[in-house]
Formats: sequence, C-alpha cells, structure tokens
Amino acid sequence: MDLLLGVMGDPIVQSKSPVMHGAALRALGIQGAYVPLHIRGGQLGEAMQAVRTLGFRGVNVTIPHKVAVMEYLDKLDESAVAVGAVNTVVNDNGVLTGYNTDGIGYVRSLKAEAVGDLSGTRILVLGAGGAARGIVSALLLEKPEAVVIANRTADKAGELAGLYSSKGNVTGTGMADISGIIRSMDIVINTTSVGMFPYPDEMPMDPDLLHEGMVVSDLIYNPLETRLLTEGRKRGCIIHGGLGMFVYQGAYALEYWTGQTAPTEVMRQTIIDCLGGSAG
Ligand code: NAP
Repeated sequence: MDLLLGVMGDPIVQSKSPVMHGAALRALGIQGAYVPLHIRGGQLGEAMQAVRTLGFRGVNVTIPHKVAVMEYLDKLDESAVAVGAVNTVVNDNGVLTGYNTDGIGYVRSLKAEAVGDLSGTRILVLGAGGAARGIVSALLLEKPEAVVIANRTADKAGELAGLYSSKGNVTGTGMADISGIIRSMDIVINTTSVGMFPYPDEMPMDPDLLHEGMVVSDLIYNPLETRLLTEGRKRGCIIHGGLGMFVYQGAYALEYWTGQTAPTEVMRQTIIDCLGGSAG
C-alpha cells in the first residue's frame, strides 16, 4: 500500500515540507505522497479522525496547531510533553502518538554543522517564543554550563527559564541586558523572527557585540544567510543557519514514519533549489 503523509496548518500553501518530503520519498524508492492539508482551528479534531479513517501513516503539524492538536491524540512522546507542543504525529493502526522534533532537529543540526559537543558551553538564546521553547528544552539535554534567554518582552524570557529551571542552569533577561553578558558566551542563537523574509536587513541585536570565535546561529532559513550571520562572519564568528533545523526536524519525522534513515542531503538540496540560493 502507498505511504500517505501530509502537513496540516493554516495557512499551508507556503510550506516547503511537501517538496522536501516528496524528494525524500523518491530518493528512498518509497511509493507514496506527502500532501499539504489546509486545516482551520475548528477542524482539528475531525482532521485527526481523518488521519485514522484515510490511513495516513502520519502528519506534520505546523502553525497555528502545534499546541491545540495535543488534545486529539492518544499518546504523547516525552519530547512533546517536555516542549508542550507537537509537530509530528505517527499513526500506528489508529493509535495516534505526538512527537516534537523541532528542538532535537535543531540540536542535531548545530552539532553536525557547528559545535560537535555542547557540554560545558555558555549559550545565549535570543527570543522566547514557540521555537525557543523546543530549543531550550533540547539544549539542556546536552548539559551546557549555562543558558541565558533574552527577549524583547523580558517577562516571557523569565517564564520560559522558570519552566526549565529543574533541567539545568537557565535564566531569563531582557534583550537590552545582553551587552553586559555576551562576552562570556560561546554561542548565540537567534530564535526571533527578526531578519526573516521579507525584512532581510533587520537584526535582533547589535552585531558589534559579537566576538571573534563565537558561534552565531540563526533559526531563520529564508534567507539562507541572514544579515546577523553575514555580520557575524565579517567579525570572525562561526556561523550556522536555520536550514539544517528544517531538514533534521523533517528527517526525524520521516524516520519515525518509515523506520528508514532519511536522505538528509537530498532534502537539504531540494530546499536550497526551491529557495534559489546556495548552501549557507
Ligand atoms: P513566535 O512564537 O511568534 O516568537 C517570536 C519571537 O520573536 C518572540 O520572542 C518575540 O518577542 C520575538 N520578536 C518578534 N518580533 C520582534 C522584534 N521586532 N524585535 C525583537 N523581538 C521580536 O515565533 P516562533 O514560532 O518561535 O518562530 C521564530 C522564528 O523561528 C521564525 O523566524 C521562524 O521562521 C523560525 N523557525 C525556524 C524553524 C526551522 O525549521 N528552521 C522552525 C521553527 C521556527 P516578544 O515575546 O517580545 O514578542
């Protein structure tokens, strides 16, 4: 039987997941399809029932359904419980299990492309939104020395840090305070949406605060190299873009659905071709 997969969101037309997973299925020689599914808020329960009825092996879930979908699932993996959101659903003969592969996808990418070992490092996370949640949770599993979350709305940084305080040394602060702490940081990660298409000239922080040798990472992958990364490169930083996170969150999902190793290079190249850029 053909493998049925998809991605549910609102809107969904912009999603690059169908093209990436379509290429991955072809590369693996698997007969099947990965389709975009435009699901509105009130339809989520019926959509999950349809996953069972239509025999989908699984779906990705994206904005704005990552939290709301949890109540329609039969089981939650630890990764979803830790983050409080689901981006991947696996259907085992009608039993739906929710996973979160965003944070672990990001960390797999950071380790593969920039810093092999995160233990003992000092990490500054800019932003305290949905993506930061998954990332902080996954970073703490790597035993860093310290994680500092800095956000425009300082209270949200404090709340997020409080959520994970039992898992490691994590604190929250306002974005205005980073000038006093960044010198002691090894890695800075932008999880805000500042610098994303269609505003590629914007930056979430003053790049003159970056120092030579530090790792500057950005979750944004459109553009493939954000202005923050370009400015970091000019100042002798090691730079790391968001494309790997997108590829690896999808790779984990595909591996859960198929049991096969995902063709990550094919997936990466497909997105680069789609964005009309070069690897960053
Ligand atoms: P979100 O929940 O809406 O959070 C947005 C964050 O950005 C908040 O911390 C917000 O601060 C901050 N922010 C927004 N505008 C700002 C501004 N003008 N100045 C300073 N801070 C600002 O969004 P999200 O889901 O976490 O996504 C964040 C980014 O991650 C997006 O660019 C998204 O594309 C990217 N992302 C990439 C991947 C990938 O696979 N590579 C996956 C997920 C997300 P306040 O709290 O003060 O509003």
